[in-house]
Amino acid sequence: MRAAALASAALLLTGVLTGALAGCSGSSSGGPGKPHKAAGTPTAPATASPADPGAYRRWGLDKPLAAPPAPPAKKLTDGFRAGEKPQIIRRIPTQDKVVFVTFDDGAEKDPEFLRMAADLKVPFTMFLTDDIARAGAGYGYFDKLRALGNGIDNHTLSHPNLRTLSAEAQKREICGQQDSLQKRFGSRPALFRPPYGNYNDATLTAAAGCGVRAVVLWEATMQINDMRYAEGNGLRPGDIVLAHFRGPQELKGTTMTRMVTNMLRSIQAQGFTVARLEDYL
Ligand SMILES: [Zn+2]
Repeated sequence: MRAAALASAALLLTGVLTGALAGCSGSSSGGPGKPHKAAGTPTAPATASPADPGAYRRWGLDKPLAAPPAPPAKKLTDGFRAGEKPQIIRRIPTQDKVVFVTFDDGAEKDPEFLRMAADLKVPFTMFLTDDIARAGAGYGYFDKLRALGNGIDNHTLSHPNLRTLSAEAQKREICGQQDSLQKRFGSRPALFRPPYGNYNDATLTAAAGCGVRAVVLWEATMQINDMRYAEGNGLRPGDIVLAHFRGPQELKGTTMTRMVTNMLRSIQAQGFTVARLEDYL
């Protein structure tokens, strides 16, 4: 009874969040901006040489994830004109059984995850918050993940609820992190994710003014052992999965790598594989 009540509360919460997001719209065209290369992705991403099945077993997975289909010829942001309002992406339109993995904030910098990422070669996109990513081992940690071909994108300077900020303060948060990431990695991210998925018209205007091409939200959220879905009881083609750089303190004793194993197992068990978001966006 109690568990059921909790589960429906969680579902309700997801529903509220999605509903709130769906209510947002904007019409500002924003200021001028330059066209940019996709995200902080290296120019020549390390293409997936097939991962060795032994490596998967070492990380607790029975077999490698299926190879993703060839990326589409046209990306969703093709045809984007500098300064125009970024698209809002909750899910990638595709019939293929692929999902996209994203890791947010940048708090946990587990060296084991560097090994796991290098072993498994599963692509993912990182949305980093300056304050959080900079702490401890700092951006050097994420640069190692980027060197494997994974994108680094914008998640503000200090992780505020943007809806509570003035247009000017939102601009500082979003464009400040564009500048910081450009300085650190050499290119301005094309993708932005607002903390908590909260945004308004001023967010889109600010993002447009400093080179953001798409605002990336999500439809599935990785918890510690399993995923929650905005709709239905499972993954759908093109779902964007939200996960975080989290360690045992936030995961009730579970490590980042074990959480990722749980996530990949679930993706696999549902008949899906992981594709690279930057190939579609
Ligand atoms: Zn966040």
